[in-house]
Amino acid sequence: MGDPRGFIKHDRKSNPMRPIPARIKDFNIMEIDLGDADRRIQASRCMNCGIPFCHHGVFYGGKRGVSGCPNDNLIPEWNDLVYKQRDKAAFERLTRTNYLPDMTGRVCPAPCEVACVNALNGPGITIRNNEKFIIEQAFKNGWVVDSGKPAHRTGKKIAVIGSGPAGISAAWRLNQLGHTVTVYERADRFGGLLMYGIPNMKLPKEIVERRIQAMRDVGIKLIANTEVGRDIDVETLRAEYDRIVICTGAREARDLDVPGRQLKGVMKAVDFLTDATKSVIKNGTEATDALKGKHVVVLGGGDTGNDCIGTAIRQGCAGITQLEINPELPKERTLDNQWPEWPMVLKDGYGQLEAQRLFGEITTYTATATGFFGENGQLSEVEVSRTDHYKPIAGSQKRIEADLVLLAMGFTGAEQWLFDAFGITKVNANYSTNDSQVFVAGDSLRGQSLVIWAIYEGRMCAEKINASFEVLSAKV
Ligand code: FAD
Repeated sequence: MGDPRGFIKHDRKSNPMRPIPARIKDFNIMEIDLGDADRRIQASRCMNCGIPFCHHGVFYGGKRGVSGCPNDNLIPEWNDLVYKQRDKAAFERLTRTNYLPDMTGRVCPAPCEVACVNALNGPGITIRNNEKFIIEQAFKNGWVVDSGKPAHRTGKKIAVIGSGPAGISAAWRLNQLGHTVTVYERADRFGGLLMYGIPNMKLPKEIVERRIQAMRDVGIKLIANTEVGRDIDVETLRAEYDRIVICTGAREARDLDVPGRQLKGVMKAVDFLTDATKSVIKNGTEATDALKGKHVVVLGGGDTGNDCIGTAIRQGCAGITQLEINPELPKERTLDNQWPEWPMVLKDGYGQLEAQRLFGEITTYTATATGFFGENGQLSEVEVSRTDHYKPIAGSQKRIEADLVLLAMGFTGAEQWLFDAFGITKVNANYSTNDSQVFVAGDSLRGQSLVIWAIYEGRMCAEKINASFEVLSAKV
């Protein structure tokens, strides 16, 4: 520990957010980085605790949500190295476990900061911001590509299906270990939900593209616009590769089977967010008037719902109503956090508070939609029903105006058809399946989750695959 009294001498200072009136005028990143000197002071606040809860991924004190990094990041070590201005060593220590700090440094809800011992008496260490600082130094200095190049090639060929954080993490590690990796992606761009899901103001798309370029630079082949199982059949893949990793995400969005669901104007959240990002990539980051005069109803009070609100605001919508079915959430409504525990990510004012500032009030209900209405196939109203224990309360229905409804109600899991095409009947917790050639990682294994979990699973799955070759050669 560089400065044993750092946490007493210095208060926490997070990267500030751009003021709301300015930031809702564009889709640019909302967070402003502190200068180098301030960053090193922040790193000096880390106490290097005997038991660093931040990197152990444990629950303690029976407190829900108090847990460390699921990826076992060696946090106190790299905090100390940042303080000592040993940035390359900090990068090496950080990327022992986390191959994508450029992503988590921007979008991780940072369970490590909640678990930080400092957080018991006040705000914890700015771990996420420190992480971003380290990876930005690394990209500036060319350390990233150097770190990803293998010392030798093994001759083993591996196909990764899906280019989200799980696929990237697995591909990066497998390539580092010397295997020849090809990533297949059905979308036109790589990155999974990092590209088409998480909005640009949280994660600028040039940051995702920079990582994709780094993958190419270390020798990973990436093929877009190719859906495995349809554009290329599974038998071809089986014949061509020694191992196959399914990292296709938990892409089955929860839907609502109510009258009027087919009306134009009722959309799944990820489709809406994908279109918004495509528009940003094509037309630039200025706010648009795509939703001018339109009233938007968001179903879902989680992070995805919040991303929809932040995006709709930047598309000039006229008003927002948000519905959440979970009765636990609206208990304690405060100005900056309508539903106290969620959203977890960048909760300081993004989305809901922006809407409040803009419209004076954001109407929120413990409710669900029980019908959509309109004329000529176009949505104009939503029937809202208050809920009790997830069930609509009889007689509570009322109709509200709506031009666009965004369904942000979570995901039910992976698309099953690809698993069926491979004949996968059993997926084990250690990423292997009933088929010794096929492995699974990320949201397609654990269900809807977080970027940091996807990175962890990609890494662990890569190690498992590597070990499977070693077992084989030991047998020969
Ligand atoms: P995905 O990112 O879903 O990637 C799967 C990829 O596989 C996709 O690109 C898909 O096109 C491709 N694919 C699917 N089938 C095929 C096929 N047959 N052939 C080829 N390619 C295929 N987490 C955070 O930590 N912080 C956040 O701020 C955050 N914000 C989020 C915002 C939204 C709107 C959503 C929906 C999620 C958010 N998450 C966030 C969760 C996080 O994005 C996911 O947990 C993570 O991306 C999962 O990674 P993955 O690689 O398993 O899957």
